[in-house]
Amino acid sequence: TKTNHGWNLASTYTQLRSFFYTEAAPQEVPAPEMVLWNRSLARELGLDENALFHEPALFAGAAFPSGAVPISQAYAGHQFGNFTMLGDGRAVLLGEQQTPEGQLVDIQLKGSGRTAYSRSGDGRAGLGPMLREYVISEAMHALGIPTSRSLAVAKTGEPVYREKPLEGAVLTRTASSHLRVGTFQYARAAGSIEDVEQLADYAIKRHDPEAGEAPNPYLAFLRGVIQRQAALTASWQLTGFIHGVMNTDNMTISGETIDYGPCAFMDTYDPETVFSSIDTGGRYAYKNQPYIAAWNLSRLAEAILPLLDDDEEAALNQAQKEITAFTPLYQQYWRDGMSAKLGLASSHPGDDKLFEDLLAVMEAEKADFTNTFRALALDPEEDELLGGTFSDWHLRWEERLQSEGTTPAAASQRMRQVNPAVIPRNHLVEEALAAAVDQGDMGPFHELLQVLSNPYADIDPDSRFCRPAPASAFPFRTYC
Ligand code: AMP
Ligand code: MG
Ligand code: MG
Repeated sequence: TKTNHGWNLASTYTQLRSFFYTEAAPQEVPAPEMVLWNRSLARELGLDENALFHEPALFAGAAFPSGAVPISQAYAGHQFGNFTMLGDGRAVLLGEQQTPEGQLVDIQLKGSGRTAYSRSGDGRAGLGPMLREYVISEAMHALGIPTSRSLAVAKTGEPVYREKPLEGAVLTRTASSHLRVGTFQYARAAGSIEDVEQLADYAIKRHDPEAGEAPNPYLAFLRGVIQRQAALTASWQLTGFIHGVMNTDNMTISGETIDYGPCAFMDTYDPETVFSSIDTGGRYAYKNQPYIAAWNLSRLAEAILPLLDDDEEAALNQAQKEITAFTPLYQQYWRDGMSAKLGLASSHPGDDKLFEDLLAVMEAEKADFTNTFRALALDPEEDELLGGTFSDWHLRWEERLQSEGTTPAAASQRMRQVNPAVIPRNHLVEEALAAAVDQGDMGPFHELLQVLSNPYADIDPDSRFCRPAPASAFPFRTYC
């Protein structure tokens, strides 16, 4: 019998007007070779995990799987606040895999060569950055944070020229969709109201089918995106994740994290933290992420404004109301998350102060973000964890737990499930990447992936996967 190795690709996006995409062709790839293959994700997608491992050409962009309708997507976006026409300059969407569970999942190649939207770029990617996206996105998934995922990394056998020559590689990533705030901005700026409407109807079908039934589907859709982004941003803040390049083209409609270029996890708690070498103004600093999310969502509201109401002022008022709801919504997600991180079973009006005061001590004491919460989880009774006013704070926390009848043991039990023992620490990721890229040794990378796949496990806090970065690792900078 004929087998296609589990590919079951639909192409719903190309049912939109061709204004939204451009066809893509396979690239000549001298020596496709698999470097990473995500077997469990392949299985979830209904793909043949054994057969496809032996098809590197498919994951290097040299050939397309059966049923693929390969395209690059058009979009626009505010980059550091400046509006620009963009599009997939180094990405090809193969189609949407119809999973055994009945979901539609975008399968996208990243780094597979020039496209209609490449502008002056080469459309390619280096092995190091693709491995980095793989490990961080998979770690995010294991942490329970909505994200694009990584299915494979394949080498092309061709150099990519950056400051120095790099080994070329292609990442295959998956996502609920690659619709972005910037896709709507593109439709509004370069298309007609009908284009915006067609895109919104498509997005509603894919991500908010229940909004389609609402009295005002587009308003309900906007509310859905705002809700998902409020939840996502809160989960970033609660794990110390700094996206690094929250341009509107990197913000999804699905509420998943995408575009792992300059992102990194914070070690020492400092709200001002910025890792990206190009973010000189600190626009995308840790503490700014919720404000930027709201700003980006305002750009989405603007783009779909004509769909909200025939009357412009009424549309503006409705959009304004939805955008205003972002902040309290975000705060509620953050508050619920902090409650869980501190083992509380209920919420109380004084809790925000309790949370903020802990963060203030952590900041003053230059505490490690992840390890502080993990240490509180492992031993809620230890009242000399940090210096400064920590013991005063600890007494208030103890009293707060007692007031709701939560024992230290019960708090600990809950807290271990939400405060990770391991995150993809920058120095560990760098070490694993150096072994992989400079020595061709994937051992440390696989070991790190393995540990990160179970971040809430009972791991010795003194293990090298938990220890904070040595002083020599600072200041850490990311490049994209
Ligand atoms: P990013 O900063 O990754 O969100 O990318 C911003 C824009 O630049 C997107 O349109 C990308 O597709 C494009 N881009 C990034 N790197 C390249 C490259 N090497 N070649 C072509 N386009 C690129
Ligand atoms: Mg991008
Ligand atoms: Mg990028």
